[in-house]
Amino acid sequence: MPKSDYDVVIAGGGMAGLITAASIGYNSKGSARVLVVDRNKESEPGRKTNNGWTCGDATSKRSLDYLADHIGIRYGAPELEHPVKGVYVYSPDRKSKVLFEGEGYLFNRKLAPRRQVDDARKSGAEFLFGATAERLLSEGDKITGVTGRKSDGTSFSFTAKMVIDATGSSSTLRRFLPIPSMIEKEIDPDDVVGTGRYILDFEPSKEDPTFFSPDYCIIHLDQFIAPAGYAWVFPKGKKKVNIGLGVSHSGLARRNRRFGLNDNLQSLIDKYLADNPVIKNYTQPADDANSGNTKGNWQVPVRRHNDCMVANGFAVVGDSAWMPRPIDAGGISPSIYGGTILGKVVAEALEAGDTSEAGLWKYNVEYMGTHGYPMASFEVLRRYLQTVTNDQINYGMKHFLSEEDVLAITERKHPEFNQARFMNPTMWFRILSQLPLARGLRYTVKKSAALVEINLGYPESPKGFGEWQKRLERELSETVSKFKPLDVAN
Ligand SMILES: Cc1cc2nc3c(=O)[nH]c(=O)nc-3n(C[C@H](O)[C@H](O)[C@H](O)COP(=O)(O)OP(=O)(O)OC[C@H]3O[C@@H](n4cnc5c(N)ncnc54)[C@H](O)[C@@H]3O)c2cc1C
Repeated sequence: MPKSDYDVVIAGGGMAGLITAASIGYNSKGSARVLVVDRNKESEPGRKTNNGWTCGDATSKRSLDYLADHIGIRYGAPELEHPVKGVYVYSPDRKSKVLFEGEGYLFNRKLAPRRQVDDARKSGAEFLFGATAERLLSEGDKITGVTGRKSDGTSFSFTAKMVIDATGSSSTLRRFLPIPSMIEKEIDPDDVVGTGRYILDFEPSKEDPTFFSPDYCIIHLDQFIAPAGYAWVFPKGKKKVNIGLGVSHSGLARRNRRFGLNDNLQSLIDKYLADNPVIKNYTQPADDANSGNTKGNWQVPVRRHNDCMVANGFAVVGDSAWMPRPIDAGGISPSIYGGTILGKVVAEALEAGDTSEAGLWKYNVEYMGTHGYPMASFEVLRRYLQTVTNDQINYGMKHFLSEEDVLAITERKHPEFNQARFMNPTMWFRILSQLPLARGLRYTVKKSAALVEINLGYPESPKGFGEWQKRLERELSETVSKFKPLDVAN
């Protein structure tokens, strides 16, 4: 075999790509030759789009601990900007709130990649900034490198034993994968949410924990203001906030049709901000830690992760692998778990001299077993929640959500919704008055158990994949036809 330029080229140096680079370095003890190619200037690593490092910035302490335990990287200030104690979720009428306890942090997404580039460099990775990866190179049925264009207009081309696509939610490398593989290339537009937010310094006009708390992330469920999505107020300090929302495009179109309105993502965000009674007298911070990152919209995939994430000489990770959690679009934790696991598997594959689909398969298995197994069930729950009205959410949060359900979601499990079961006679009246809702919730529970079981039986080698995927699709297809989109909102 002719010697390749690198062992691994990682396209995209964002959250997922940079953690993967550090993990390969850690697990190969610095012996792997890794190049990270990113389209940004070196002074602006990890920038997602021209609008900045657009994100809600929140992640769990649990995922940061996983990173520290597995590759010895412990983030601190300034990349972690603010600690929180949990998340409050409010019903549309704001009369019910549910606390999901669990420590977390608000990242500074602009500063974090600077630290992450340092970490990756220390573990042996090289960088090419200002370079857009455009096309994968292949020989026969194997990826052998990547070509693209630098910001000065010249082209680049590198051969490698494998290429990792970490280019985020707009990945074209995956879409135009030039070899036969089991990786799904296209995502259904309804499985992508449009999201956007502001980062603001402000003067609180009063105290009202329903609308801002320095210690808790706040999520507002409201099918009118965030159709088929949700809105958030995340604290970045006592007087600093990340405020925004996410919507499904078709949900927004249905809501506009129903009310004869013409809102778009930005007008909804502006209205949500204007309606907040606490966040007043605000400015977009202009210091180095925030400039260029205070207003922006972008997209997040919210289906289960790609059923297969490897091919011969190729892997996907992060948003390009559709990893964000379907019910809340949280993609930082999955990038941490995914990047850490992929880095370990790649180091082992290089050591074994086998970066084929089979040689990289363990990444599929370990990601599914560690973080990915509940994602299909969350996809079903998300689809269901997109069909319920504000009144149903108000009712469901008040009467059907128990402490056990809350704990289950905190533990990344599907809630049981036992309050919506007829076996509980004290609930009969309530169940009967909202029978479709109770039935819908119970149906997601039944589906969830089946889907988790299927996912925990993910095949140990590519051989069993076809059969396994058929089982998964059979289970999922029923929910697609059952959960018909409603004209949501009150
Ligand atoms: C508004 C919004 C709010 C969100 N809120 C949260 C939240 O609160 N918590 C949470 O956990 N998740 C949240 N997410 C999701 C989270 O931000 C993403 O899941 C995460 O950033 C994914 O990381 P990534 O590395 O896969 O992709 P990205 O962060 O998008 O990084 C991709 C990198 O690749 C570069 N790149 C792209 N194409 C190319 C190319 N062809 N060649 C070279 N380089 C390329 C990009 O410039 C970038 O540097 C939110 C997302 C949005 C949009």
